[in-house]
Order: sequence, then structure tokens, then C-alpha cells
Amino acid sequence: LQKDLQKSEQLRVVSELAASVAHEVRNPMTVARGFIQLIHSRSDLSENEKQYLLLTISELDRAQSIISDYLSLAKPEIKVNKPVNVFKVLDKVRHTIQAYALMNNVKLDMEVPKNITILGKEQELTQVILNLAKNGIESMENSGTLTLSAKENKDHVDITITDTGVGMSKEQLKQLGNAYYTTKEKGTGLGLMISYNIIHSWGGDIYVKSKLGAGTSFTIHLPNLCDNFEDLESILSNNIS
Ligand code: ADP
Ligand code: MG
Repeated sequence: LQKDLQKSEQLRVVSELAASVAHEVRNPMTVARGFIQLIHSRSDLSENEKQYLLLTISELDRAQSIISDYLSLAKPEIKVNKPVNVFKVLDKVRHTIQAYALMNNVKLDMEVPKNITILGKEQELTQVILNLAKNGIESMENSGTLTLSAKENKDHVDITITDTGVGMSKEQLKQLGNAYYTTKEKGTGLGLMISYNIIHSWGGDIYVKSKLGAGTSFTIHLPNLCDNFEDLESILSNNIS
């Protein structure tokens, strides 16, 4: 038991460290990208030199996508389950992806009741929804609608992200969640893998429905409802022990 505890404590420390490194590393990378762009606009560069600078920018962008697929809004946070308001998380994601949606001519819709609460980790849930929403937007090349919705059922909550994008074939669906599976030129193939991992670690699941040429919907199925006093009491006592 002592060994297990040590291990999970180590894991916690390492993942918090990773999260804060990701957060801190973004600013210097943005500054570096800015200076490279500045040099790229000089008129006395050879074609080769310009090409190298463009390659550098595209590699920096790739590093940024890896960070954002893994740990976008990551800040060091103690990892215990807490009541999480689903509307708040979806609204935050909507805010974060607004500019990206606009850039891709995508309309954002939200159909979410304000009072759904689940038991989990807000930052991780935000990361999962962000990954699914980003994929949705990226599946719509010129215009479409991305809908974020949530529904509370008797013993679970469903959060659904629907797009009107390119859709996927049966063969593509089978590959979802495999590390490094991507069909995008600048994809990481990590977003879904990390999302499945997070939701499975909570005892939940992710279901996909998709039709080629019509669109896709991803549903996050979460059993951890938190809507009564007993749940809250057990959270409090868990956090203490
Ligand atoms: P990435 O976005 O970097 O490619 P992901 O793990 O997020 O990696 O997604 C893996 C692949 O799954 C994508 O490249 C794409 O082919 C497919 N995919 C995921 N979501 C959708 C979607 N909403 N519509 C169509 N294809 C999708
Ligand atoms: Mg992705």
C-alpha cells in the first residue's frame, strides 16, 4: 500500500509539473515565433533562408498544438474530484474557441441547462471538450455549425458536441483514439487519445456517431452525477481522508 501511495503521489507531482511547464513554455515560444516572422519579412533573404524560417515557424506551431491538445488550460491544481458545473465548463470552452470558429466560418450553438453538476476535475473536463470542439471545427472546411449540448438523465450526464462537417467512414471510426492517428497535415493525433483516457479514468465513456459528408457527434457519457447532499458529504469526507 505504501508503495502504491508513493507511486500515485509521484504521478501527481509529475503531472502537475508537466502542466505548469506547458503553461510557462508557451510565452517564450510565442515571442520566438514573432521574431522569426519579423526576420522573414526582410527583403535581403535568399529563397532558401526564407524557406528555413517558414519551416521553423511551422515546427513551433506543431509544438504549440501538442501542448494545446494535451494541456491547454492546464494550471497546477490538486487532483481531487469536485463538483463541476457543466454549463460553466461548456461556456468557457465556447469562449475559448470563438475566434477559431469565426476564422473557419463556423456558427456556435449551445443548448445547456445551467444546473447540471458532475463529480470530476474541471480542468480535465475542459480539456476533453476543447479537444472535441476543436476537432469539430476543423472538420468543417467552409462553414457549418458546432453545437454544444448537455442533458441530465437519471443516473448519468451526456455532453454532446455535434458538427456538420466531413464525417468519418467505418474504417476511420475504428482508428479513433489510437495514438498518433491523424488525417490532418498539422495534426498531432493525440487529442482523442488523451480525451478517451481522461473520461475512462472517471468510469465514463465517449460514443461517436458519424456520417460521411454529413457530420459527427461525440457524446461524453458520465456516470458521476452529483446532485444531492449525500454525494456532497461523501466528497467532503473523501477529500479529508
Ligand atoms: P488531430 O486533431 O491532431 O488529428 P485527434 O486525436 O484530435 O488528432 O483526432 C484524430 C483524427 O480523428 C483526426 O485527424 C480526424 O481524422 C478524426 N476526427 C476526429 N474528430 C473528428 C470530427 N469531428 N469529424 C471528422 N473527423 C474527426
Ligand atoms: Mg484534435
